[in-house]
Amino acid sequence: MSALHDPNGGFNRVVEYFYDPDIGNYYYGSGHPMKPHRVRLTHHLLLNYGLYRQMNVFRPLKATKEEMSMFHKDDYLDFLRVCTPDEEDRYANQMERFNVGQADCPIFGDLYEYCQVYSGASLSAAMRLNSKRSDIVVNWSGGMHHAKKSEASGFCYVNDIVLAILELLKSKERVLYIDIDIHHGDGVEEAFYSTNRVMTLSFHQYGDFFPGTGTVQDDGNKDGKGYALNFPLQDGLTDASFRSVFRPVIDEVMKRFRPEAVVMCCGADSITGDRLGCWNLTIKGHADCINYIKGFGIPLMLLGGGGYTPRNVARCWAWETGVALGKTDMLRDELPFNDYYDFFKPDYRLHLPAQKNVENFNSTKELQSTLQKVLNILRKLESAPSVPIYTGQIGTTQIPKPAQDLDEREKIRIDSVDAEQRKTAAFEGKKASPLDAIAPESSVESNLNSVNSSSNSSSNNIGIMEAGVTAWAVAPKEEEDEEGL
Ligand SMILES: [Zn+2]
Repeated sequence: MSALHDPNGGFNRVVEYFYDPDIGNYYYGSGHPMKPHRVRLTHHLLLNYGLYRQMNVFRPLKATKEEMSMFHKDDYLDFLRVCTPDEEDRYANQMERFNVGQADCPIFGDLYEYCQVYSGASLSAAMRLNSKRSDIVVNWSGGMHHAKKSEASGFCYVNDIVLAILELLKSKERVLYIDIDIHHGDGVEEAFYSTNRVMTLSFHQYGDFFPGTGTVQDDGNKDGKGYALNFPLQDGLTDASFRSVFRPVIDEVMKRFRPEAVVMCCGADSITGDRLGCWNLTIKGHADCINYIKGFGIPLMLLGGGGYTPRNVARCWAWETGVALGKTDMLRDELPFNDYYDFFKPDYRLHLPAQKNVENFNSTKELQSTLQKVLNILRKLESAPSVPIYTGQIGTTQIPKPAQDLDEREKIRIDSVDAEQRKTAAFEGKKASPLDAIAPESSVESNLNSVNSSSNSSSNNIGIMEAGVTAWAVAPKEEEDEEGL
């Protein structure tokens, strides 16, 4: 275990949770595996387990175009704003150029607003870490790690993770990004591929699997050489196998890179029984990663990501919110009654057993071989790089401007509604949004100090690694009726 790691370091930390009650209403379309409704399911579990009262809960402002343009191109954002499902002929050229309107990334009603909602939550969360008001921030609607500067990909349109990291870089010299979604975190890696201020670390399924990128050898370029880490894995990954490689990599990363903030994409498509995933992690095995990171006592952002069996996604993220809070004792295995109780039939339990008849194709020998390759990359790095404030080259992006609008952004509403009242409503079977009774707005003053800004920019010279694999080409459709809105 790393000397930096303190298993007790995660106790008594301020946890803040960002949730917009509208998130569950956005709908990718019939048969599409991505269902924002899973975030609402998660919320209802948190509500009825009582975790809701253990943390500060915010309904964040929507991200503005200016905020999203810190990473994305204006013409791409303009297109997302105006495109509508019934005008696809009119926008045929742009749809092809921006990879929008395809099976993976359809145009649907309020698409742009959906992007604003989940991106606004991640931006607000980053600001709370920057202003040191919070130790751990949580946005389960975020984690859209595939989106590129001018291109949608893998159900992702706007990359809230890149936006959040850019925000963190205003006050943090080094940010670590860890991705435990089963898919390679390609969009985030690409954005920061040539900077040493952001280390990206992705554990993912590799080989005939979307997006088809993320070999160990893809380790960054220019100043970022060695600061993009990839750990490719195979079908059937178990808790023990994952832990045997996750912890040694993290220990070395913390020793060498010494991040000032950590952002995690906690995609739940890496747990057992996922509609698109092929690993065999239990919820506890998945959450062990978060628990371990939490022990380093570094400001931490937890974001969602993939996860295509909504009832299991909700189970996973509810448990992981408990891990963040250090309150897993409140999460009994028997699920509390809630508005969506029937989603959790037939067992109505929180935890998922690993599947017994699933083979683990990750041999110990192969895992150790990959581990050594990743550790060798890390050991070549200068330990704890003393990065001058203005040297970061953010690859595809501008370094953020001074934060002139942060007071405005931090006018996030505190939801102080009585969770017990909600619980009563849930028992009465009301389908009302859980935040219908949201408390009146109360401004939160910002004391954010933006210590690091620059007008440096560099064009995107990073080659996009083409894969051409459709994210859900083989997705079974039988769950649609059960899981659909
Ligand atoms: Zn995924």
